[in-house]
Amino acid sequence: MKEKGRFLKQYRGNECLNCRVPLDIIDRYCHNCGQINTTKKLSFKDFFDEFFASIFSYDSRLRHTMSTLLFNPGKISKDYIEGKRIKYANPFRFYLSVSIIFFIINGLFIDFERFSADIEDDVTKGKEAIEKAGINEIEKTIALDSIKEHINQQLDASEHLSPQGKKIINNQITKAKGTSWFDKEKTEEEVVYYKQTQIDTMGFIKKATSLWSMYTDHYEKTGQKSAYRALNELNHNKSPFNKYVYHRAIKTSNIDDTYGRELLEFIFNKLPFIIFFFLPFFALAIWFLYIRKSYNYMEHLVFTFHTQTMFFILIGIAILLDQIFASSTTLGVVLLIFLFYLYKAMRKFYNQGRVKTIVKFLLVNVLFFILAVAGSVITITGSIFIF
Ligand SMILES: [Zn+2]
Repeated sequence: MKEKGRFLKQYRGNECLNCRVPLDIIDRYCHNCGQINTTKKLSFKDFFDEFFASIFSYDSRLRHTMSTLLFNPGKISKDYIEGKRIKYANPFRFYLSVSIIFFIINGLFIDFERFSADIEDDVTKGKEAIEKAGINEIEKTIALDSIKEHINQQLDASEHLSPQGKKIINNQITKAKGTSWFDKEKTEEEVVYYKQTQIDTMGFIKKATSLWSMYTDHYEKTGQKSAYRALNELNHNKSPFNKYVYHRAIKTSNIDDTYGRELLEFIFNKLPFIIFFFLPFFALAIWFLYIRKSYNYMEHLVFTFHTQTMFFILIGIAILLDQIFASSTTLGVVLLIFLFYLYKAMRKFYNQGRVKTIVKFLLVNVLFFILAVAGSVITITGSIFIF
C-alpha cells in the first residue's frame, strides 16, 4: 500500500496510542494490538480515502480469488494450505457467497414449467406403454383361449388321456390366464374399510398401510380435501396420525397435477443445504483415496470446497448462457470442462503422476456418483415426508 495521509512517516510516534507498547519509526502498525502507528489528527479526507481503499482491497482479493480459481486449477487450494492466505477469500465464506448467487440465478432462470412438462410427457408415454401392454395381454388371453380350444380338440380326439389328465391340463391353462395383467389389476383394486376399533388393534405397519389405502380410496371417490370431514365421514378418530396419513394420501393422489413440480422445486431450493452437508462426506472419501499424503482432513475439505465452488460458477455461467441464447447445450459442455478441471486440480493439488491421478480421478467420480445417488434417495424420501 502506498504511504499517504496518516500513514506518512512524519506522523509515526514512539509508542502505541492504544496500548502504550513502545514502537519504532518503521512500524506501520502496532505489533501488539494492530492499530495504525500515527499521531496525525483525524481528518475527513483520510477517513474517506481509507473507506474506499478498504472496499477496493476487498474487491481485488475477490478478483484474485476468482481468477486463480478459474484459470489455475488446484493452485488456490495449494496456496491456501501452504499458508499463502491473505490474498484469497476464505474458502468456506467464498463457497457460501458463490452458492447464494448461484441459487438466485437458478431461481430466476431454471424453467420448472418445462421440467414438469417433460415429466408429464414421460407419464403419458408410460401410460401409453401400459395400455399397449394391456392390449397385448388381451391378445395373449385370446391366444390362450384358442390354444386351449385347440388342445381340447386334440385331447378329445386322443384316446390316450384320462379325464383326470384333461382336467389337470385345463387347470394349468386357466392358471396361466389368471396371471394376466388385467386380472391382477382387478383383484388389487378392492379396498377394505376398517372401523377405528379394528384399526386400534393393528400393528403399526398394517395400520399405516390400511389407513393409506382406505384414505386414498376415500379421497379418490369423494374428493374430500378436509381431513377433518373425511375422518368424520369414515367415523375415524381425528388423531394427528390419521390426519397426517389423510393429507399424505391427498398429496400422492394429486401426483399427476402439481405435486411433482412442487416437490422438484422444494428439493431444488434445499440443494445448497443438501450439498453443504454432503461435502464433508466427500472430503472424507478423498481423504481415504489419498491416505498416504500428509494432508489432514481440513486440507482435503478446503480442496473439496474450492472444487465445488468452481462447479457452481461453471453451472451458473451455463444457465446464464443457455438463457441468453435459448439453447440447452452449454450445460453438457460445461460438465465436460468441469471434469477436465477436476483432473487438473487433483494433479496440481495432490502432485501425483498422470496414471495415478487418472485412476484416482475415476474413483472420485464413482464415489461421487454413489454419494449423489445415496444423497438423492435420502433427500427425495425425506422431502416426500416433510413437504
Ligand atoms: Zn497497540
